[in-house]
Amino acid sequence: MTDREQKKNLWWQYMTWDQVVDHAKECDIAILPMGSIEQHGHHLPTGHDTIQLFPMLEEVAERTGAILLASPWYGAHPVHHHHFPGTIPLSSDTCRFLIKDIIRGASEAGYNKFIIFFGHGQAWVANYCVQELGLEGYFVLSVMFQNMMRDLHNEIFETPFWHADEAETSVGLVTHPDLVDMSKAIDESATRILDGQFVQSPSDYAVSKPLRFDEGTLSVPEYKDLQAGVIGRPTLATREKGERYVQTIIDRMSDLVNEIKTKYPAGTKVPIK
Ligand SMILES: [Zn+2]
Repeated sequence: MTDREQKKNLWWQYMTWDQVVDHAKECDIAILPMGSIEQHGHHLPTGHDTIQLFPMLEEVAERTGAILLASPWYGAHPVHHHHFPGTIPLSSDTCRFLIKDIIRGASEAGYNKFIIFFGHGQAWVANYCVQELGLEGYFVLSVMFQNMMRDLHNEIFETPFWHADEAETSVGLVTHPDLVDMSKAIDESATRILDGQFVQSPSDYAVSKPLRFDEGTLSVPEYKDLQAGVIGRPTLATREKGERYVQTIIDRMSDLVNEIKTKYPAGTKVPIK
């Protein structure tokens, strides 16, 4: 996974309209990669959350036949991310409208099942969209890969998933190693508004904590709090950890897509309305 050149045969934006329509007759599942443009310390690029998704999804598309929708790159951000240089947040409303417009437009070409696949903490927006689109009759799933990997996270990594940390950096070493500079990785921690015992990370599994990370403003503003822009321990990152994590994400996403394909073959609508 070192070649970041996109595989053009898998992506909507490189096809003609009739190719897109023909593709839907074979497989009418479309996946929308949603990441962010956000500072990720001194050692990862600002596009990390988005760039990492491309090679993962290309392998899923190759295995399953799903089409990949052009990624908007930007995403919505919780309050404590705002104002850090390098971060360009969409407002929640902009992000919601953007996702909904993309799904509505893609459905015109014959696509009946959609997965929003994101590697950035914007579940409160993505899940909202899924509900709103469901009311309109669109079958849409919101998949955050960190949630999909909760059961294995602690087996692979020594620290929980936060930001530009051990896990994110390990993924970067697999999906875009040429853009990762380990010599600039600095371990850092955030000042929490509530103690960690009250706040669940995206990777916490089978724990009972009252609040998920995005259910409130739970950290002080990063631009005032952090020096490098890291929450976690990127110095613990390795390519080996990233390989196992990324390969399992690809396996699990492929299983999910294949399940939808088998249960609801191309041309079949999921009976949600
Ligand atoms: Zn990130």
